Amino acid sequence: MPNSKKNNSSVPKKLATRPATRVDLAKVEAGVRLILEGIGEDPSRPGLEGTPRRVALMYEEICAGLHQDPRELIHVIPAETHDEMVIVKDIPIYSLCEHHLLPFAGVAHIAYIPKAGRIVGLSKLARIADLMAKKPQIQERLTTEIADLLYEELSATGVMVVIESEHMCVEMRGIKKPGSKAVTSALRGGFLKDPRTRAEAMALIGRHDRG
Ligand code: ZN
Repeated sequence: MPNSKKNNSSVPKKLATRPATRVDLAKVEAGVRLILEGIGEDPSRPGLEGTPRRVALMYEEICAGLHQDPRELIHVIPAETHDEMVIVKDIPIYSLCEHHLLPFAGVAHIAYIPKAGRIVGLSKLARIADLMAKKPQIQERLTTEIADLLYEELSATGVMVVIESEHMCVEMRGIKKPGSKAVTSALRGGFLKDPRTRAEAMALIGRHDRG
């Protein structure tokens, strides 16, 4: 292959060493240029010159959850016998509302009751929530997807996921309700069946169980 060693010198180093993903940077760049033109901006003015490429790289980062399987992050810790409730609270999450492509951001709380000692590292729970947040979606679906993944992959006795977040599409536009929070929850197994278990978890994450 005579061309295989040909280097394109116009490609910045940072891009050349970037891990391969399925985000088509050129396509996103072209789209951003169109948006700028569409809103009446001049994409060639100095302040905006590098913007399409910068935005494309940003989307690659904040949409990483589209291209990585969160199951890869789950490594069950062997030989543990812990079968009591485990809670990780206040995990920061940053996501994109799929209706407006504006951010929603907040915290996720994850609780689960292991079965037969099948536990996963606490930091892994945070990484799973972080990764699964990184794509366009609605908060309700993100909440259920995290709960279903953990319930299935850990064969857990119960899983509870609560997400509290603020949506820029609510704060900046439309009805403009700054500071309002959307709270979603997903319950599986023991958390669904036993109100005491649910109340205990809600108390530990600092929320009142209303149901
Ligand atoms: Zn929205």
